[in-house]
Amino acid sequence: MTNSLNPLLAETSLPAFDAIRADHIAPAIDYLIRDYEQCVADLVTNPQARDFAQLMAPMERVQTRLNRAWAPVGHLHGTMDSPALREAYSAAEEKLTEFYTALGQNRDLYEAVLAVSQSPDFASLSRAERTLVEDSLRGFRLSGVALQEPERSRFAAIQTELSKLSTAFSEAVLDSTDAWSYSMSETELAGLPASALPMFQQYAKEHGQEGWLATLKSPSVQAIMSFADNRKLRETVYTAYHTRASDQGPHDPKHDNASRIEQIMALRHESANLLDFASAAHESLDGKMAATPERVLDFLHDLAAKARPVAVKELAELGEFARTTLGIETLMPWDVNYAAEKLREHRFDFSEEDLKPYFPVEQVMSGLFAVVGRLFGVQFVARSDVALWHPDARFYDVVDADGSVRAGVYLDLYARTGKRGGAWMDVCRARADDPAIAQKPVAFLVCNFPPPTPDLPALLTHDDVITLLHECGHGLHHMLTEIGWPSVGGISGVEWDAVELPSQFMENYAWCREGLDLLARHYQTGEPLPQDLFDKMLAARHFHAGLFLVRQLEFALFDFRLHLDYQPEGGARVMERLAEVRKQVAVIEPPSWQRFPNTFTHIFSGGYAAGYYSYLWAEVLSADAFAAFEENGLFDASTGQRFRDEILAVGGSRPALESFIAFRGREPETDALLRSYGLAA
Ligand code: ZN
Repeated sequence: MTNSLNPLLAETSLPAFDAIRADHIAPAIDYLIRDYEQCVADLVTNPQARDFAQLMAPMERVQTRLNRAWAPVGHLHGTMDSPALREAYSAAEEKLTEFYTALGQNRDLYEAVLAVSQSPDFASLSRAERTLVEDSLRGFRLSGVALQEPERSRFAAIQTELSKLSTAFSEAVLDSTDAWSYSMSETELAGLPASALPMFQQYAKEHGQEGWLATLKSPSVQAIMSFADNRKLRETVYTAYHTRASDQGPHDPKHDNASRIEQIMALRHESANLLDFASAAHESLDGKMAATPERVLDFLHDLAAKARPVAVKELAELGEFARTTLGIETLMPWDVNYAAEKLREHRFDFSEEDLKPYFPVEQVMSGLFAVVGRLFGVQFVARSDVALWHPDARFYDVVDADGSVRAGVYLDLYARTGKRGGAWMDVCRARADDPAIAQKPVAFLVCNFPPPTPDLPALLTHDDVITLLHECGHGLHHMLTEIGWPSVGGISGVEWDAVELPSQFMENYAWCREGLDLLARHYQTGEPLPQDLFDKMLAARHFHAGLFLVRQLEFALFDFRLHLDYQPEGGARVMERLAEVRKQVAVIEPPSWQRFPNTFTHIFSGGYAAGYYSYLWAEVLSADAFAAFEENGLFDASTGQRFRDEILAVGGSRPALESFIAFRGREPETDALLRSYGLAA
């Protein structure tokens, strides 16, 4: 096949989704990697290429061409999986990983970028351009490019070892989760919702058994811990679930992750030291908004001081309710969710199901567009001339107040076979102003809502509506960027602990009357959400917020302290540190055999090492940003314009703290977060 016939290499403004096939992937990616390698080779040998225009700009161009081909491939892999596509995708992904690893280690390229940063005209570059250079240098440093031998080889060996350990860690979690099951008798089903029974029958069938099988997959654990009347059953499942991948409970010791955790912690610490960081926590904060360990710890401890008394009170009430109403004398860890569920029903007399008729998908979509329109002055205009990958998908132009098309967005809302679960926003095209690659930003918004049936429109849960707003917030960050260099525009280059600001901010419009008046209309009567339902919904929102927060704080503090306080001589001392943290923040005392760290995949095999605090950190920003709208009017035009200009438009071109201050006129404060959890004094 020639390049000119390969739709992935065509210079079209949008991907030709009706023409892309699995066998286009390998030739396109091979070609683009070769092109990239050639470009890098030319740049490092050209002594002229030591300024922004002659080094960074060509790098942005070659990267953009590669992204242009890879984005639709990744998107199809997530939404239209097939054996042929999966195979082609994995093969290409492997080549890309290898390519990017080599690029991060390219000493000559690093020195060329370093020369740009040291050149006399660096200071005269735009803010975005300087940030792009600095981000690039940090990326190189964190991949160990500046090290000399023998540290360089040692660093590389550690990364390989860490990558193996992290895979082994998550596989052990998966294997010990899958290895356990328990056949439930009919009487043990008491209390479980009728809607959960087919799931337990399905698990039994998968194991070649009759009846109902409890497993350690999360829907099974959730249903049993929240609803099973049989206390012994709850204890059995709790014990199995909270000892997975450990030497405790009913599990095969070969899945025990304890020694993997020790090795991971030792290698992370050594690796951080090689890069001149005092600890892996210090390394993790390089390029994050929180910046110093003291700020992270102060933040978490402050929050704990406010959340803990509330959690203590909530637990005491729950214990009282369990004693008087459920006949449970002493609340054990396996009673907590069960009793909480009963108390919730008792107190609020309200179910998620009551809301669904008010959220038909077309109403929610037009409500969403109206919310965004009123906040940021843009309109969504459907287009029918754009090639799509599935009949459910749609495309909209995002049109600015002056009538100009600012961006584009694809929507793919419904669950179907071959589509990855969950919801996400992804980049299709990043804004580029350089004439050689000029393009408007285009986003993918993908959800997994239940599709409509012949008699019923798709009715969303309130959670679904929140999800949609969340992903739309990421989308707006991407689409309303004013930055012309893809690496620092939109969501690119934004600090990890600040990138959820726009997404979590948008969620608030699903919790206020003004937002819901646009989003909700009964699918039969067209009525807005009744006030009594709205009141119940709000009342239930803060149920057990204190208990939720102290759990998040326990995870965040444990993760952070573990990485910060690591000492090679003493080892990780995992359970000891966890006990210390629990003494500070937790209100529920788990049994001594509980082994939560052994399945903490976020930090041992995900990207959240010494970064779990980010969830709460970003929530402070989003709640405080929303508070500005509460003060000035939820759809106040000038506040909306300021949010657009100072947060959305600038992307990663400057530090998130600076953007926040430019919007809010001061540093972020935690009061609004506490209010959003119902914890304000
Ligand atoms: Zn998000």
